Amino acid sequence: MIAYKYKLYQTKRTKHLDAMLREASFVWNHALALQKRYYSLFGKYISKNAMQKHYAKRIKRTLLHSQTTQEIIERLDTAYQRFFKKLAKRPPKFRRAIDFYSIVYKQGGFSLNGNVLTVNTIKKRFKFSYSRPYEGRVKRIAIKRSRLGEYYLIITTDAEPKAYGKTHDGASVGIDFGLKTYMTLSDGTTVRNPLFLKSDLDNVRRKSRSLSKCKKGSNNRQRRRKDVCREFENITHKREDFQWKLAHELCRKYDYIFIEDLSLHGMTRMWGLKMSDLAHAEFVGKLECVTRKYSVTVHKIDRFYPSSKTCECGYVNRELKLSDREWVCPECGKVNDRDLNAAENILRRGISELWSGSKTVSDTASRACTQESHAL
Ligand SMILES: [Zn+2]
Repeated sequence: MIAYKYKLYQTKRTKHLDAMLREASFVWNHALALQKRYYSLFGKYISKNAMQKHYAKRIKRTLLHSQTTQEIIERLDTAYQRFFKKLAKRPPKFRRAIDFYSIVYKQGGFSLNGNVLTVNTIKKRFKFSYSRPYEGRVKRIAIKRSRLGEYYLIITTDAEPKAYGKTHDGASVGIDFGLKTYMTLSDGTTVRNPLFLKSDLDNVRRKSRSLSKCKKGSNNRQRRRKDVCREFENITHKREDFQWKLAHELCRKYDYIFIEDLSLHGMTRMWGLKMSDLAHAEFVGKLECVTRKYSVTVHKIDRFYPSSKTCECGYVNRELKLSDREWVCPECGKVNDRDLNAAENILRRGISELWSGSKTVSDTASRACTQESHAL
């Protein structure tokens, strides 16, 4: 599966897409209200199938294709299932029309011809910028509105992603993620922390200040809100570009990549803004995605392994603080650089774990990894 993303041209006709999204949010909210009501009356959950049947029979929506409606109910069901399995803290919420971003067409209801998308239910044609041809059979499409109010078309096809060539063979590397340096590799190289957000933060601050000065509900305020959104989008684009390129670079060089299985959520809370700027978890997601194309193995080592506190000789320094950048081992006298030592330990530990088979290799193949899954 490959997902291609194209930008739809903004015309007068795109207001029809807004109307469709409004209706989509109605479907979501109505189904959610039904669930809540049913639960308060009978203490039970309405199954996905029953809900879909109910919609097919009772609720006639004119703008949306039947499969699009079904997909929204599926999404709601997924959100509930996550909540039931305790993967999400809260059940799904009601959403304003403006906060509803995407609709999906599975098989029918649309046609693609060159750079023209025809949406059958509203009998409208939309042109998009056909920046590259898509390969394979179209499995589904999604229409997505960004926060800036721009529209994108995401086409998912059944084509296989092509494999990429490598420049090096058989090398293994351990990676230590850090706050001061973005990452330290076990061969001694470091990747500098880009901190895009910090350099752009002044921009964002200035723009949000002028936003807060605007009168509520005014046109000016709308414009300023978009300015702030655009600034955030710039930052996101820069960071994503950096992360994708870094992931490719690593995969070209190494066959086995060992990383720490950090509970990053806890770290974000501790470090706040700076940590979310570094967004290591996001990077790991991308890395796992890219490794598939290079057939590289990513292995996460045991998260309770004290990688920065262990010396090469096996001594564990329990007194090591976060502020200590270097420490001397009392057993063998070796001077350990905190980050490099951690990276080396991750490599050692990873290799032994992988070869003893004590921990399963993270199965990257099973992860649905497309641009779309990031986009939706
Ligand atoms: Zn030692």
